[in-house]
Amino acid sequence: MTDTFVRLKASLADRYAIQEELGAGGMATVYLARDLKHDREVAVKVLRPELAAVVGAERFLHEIQIAAKLNHPHILTLIDSGEADGFLYYVMPYVQGESLRDKLHREKQLSVEEALAITQGVASAMAYAHAHLRRLGVVAVMRDCVLHLDEYSNFFKVAQRFDYVVMETAIASRVNDHYVAKEVAKHSSVILVGPYATAVAPRMIKRPEVYAVLRGEYEKSLAACLESGKGGVYEFDEWRDVDDAPFPTRDKSIYAYKMARHSNALNMWGSRGCPFHCTFCYSQRFQCTHKYRGHGPERIRQEIMDVLVRFPKLTYIYFDDDTFNIGNKRVCEIAKVMKGIGLPWGAMCRADTTGLDTFRAMKDGGCVEVKIGIESGSQRVLDEVVKKGLDLDVVKKVVPALRKMGLQVHGTFMRGFKGETPEEARMTRRLITELQCSSYQLSDLRKQ
Ligand code: SF4
Repeated sequence: MTDTFVRLKASLADRYAIQEELGAGGMATVYLARDLKHDREVAVKVLRPELAAVVGAERFLHEIQIAAKLNHPHILTLIDSGEADGFLYYVMPYVQGESLRDKLHREKQLSVEEALAITQGVASAMAYAHAHLRRLGVVAVMRDCVLHLDEYSNFFKVAQRFDYVVMETAIASRVNDHYVAKEVAKHSSVILVGPYATAVAPRMIKRPEVYAVLRGEYEKSLAACLESGKGGVYEFDEWRDVDDAPFPTRDKSIYAYKMARHSNALNMWGSRGCPFHCTFCYSQRFQCTHKYRGHGPERIRQEIMDVLVRFPKLTYIYFDDDTFNIGNKRVCEIAKVMKGIGLPWGAMCRADTTGLDTFRAMKDGGCVEVKIGIESGSQRVLDEVVKKGLDLDVVKKVVPALRKMGLQVHGTFMRGFKGETPEEARMTRRLITELQCSSYQLSDLRKQ
């Protein structure tokens, strides 16, 4: 018997007789116990003491509050919760039988019927509590096929075990997306998401292989679609308070992602949306509305800590927001949080939405690089074609100042805008030379 087991047994002795350890995960250990008051077997989930110190009682108790509100056949109800002798715990009914993982280990491959039954169970629970699943430790099946270099034959074999397959689409990969959707639809209902599906939703839904198209951010509409069991086009339905959204799923493949020069980088959002209306911007037209929704500094700290506890080898953080630096006060507070975290970081920014003092606070908080969207060297193109609302005089003042502060600046530019003259394209080239960014990218819209 370990010390922890003995201490836990003693601290809960008046209510639960702890019997044995049932299993342990990264966050918590689950014990079989007898509920002394009701004379029944229960499962007691106890947060690991070392995590309790890092994550804090507050977050664990918040999760318990959320769990207490859930009522679904595929989610165990909460019986009790509390803190005893420093242990944070909650109690659920004990369900006998093996775990899905054990079953897969034992049988290697499930029958299609069994797989469908299990998937349906998980999927409908997702539909009910999609936003809360990860917080509760329920695992959604997610696969980055590009990262894992999945072969089509293998992907189709796996996909056919599921009732629903949700596929991200993009304009550049649309031909391939159609092919994959057709194959997958032979066995599963295909739900399409992403910019391409969003842009052509009315046309897309008429294709026989497409069950549903979810426009824009799709966490909530995916839940609605699965819960209702109805296909069709689902319109934009965004999180208003993004701090209510669960942390995104991250597994060990996080170590395979790279951000520019940084391996072992955490890519995350500090906000969603953007208050600007650049005409070329896919994010604003196909991903969300123009409403800017920023995460609070504390939520950002919690998300990063949640990741670092599980993936301590991460060495860099990148805020891949539409526009990270909105609101001087908020950005300075985030910079303070980042200073406490102590890792170098970078962010996608605009030159004109925060002052130089705020950029200085970011630098002081460990920021080492910013990406700045500039697009064109012609004020006319920016004003009349791109409608970016950006004054090039500000850019010419801010970018050298950022370089002087010691920040790396990556400038993003474009050419080939509709109505752009050859001279205006040359102005962009000249601006790139003048600004002396640490690095830059020049995308050619004529090749898109
Ligand atoms: S500022 Fe950036 S994110 Fe915002 S609309 Fe323009 S290009 Fe899109």
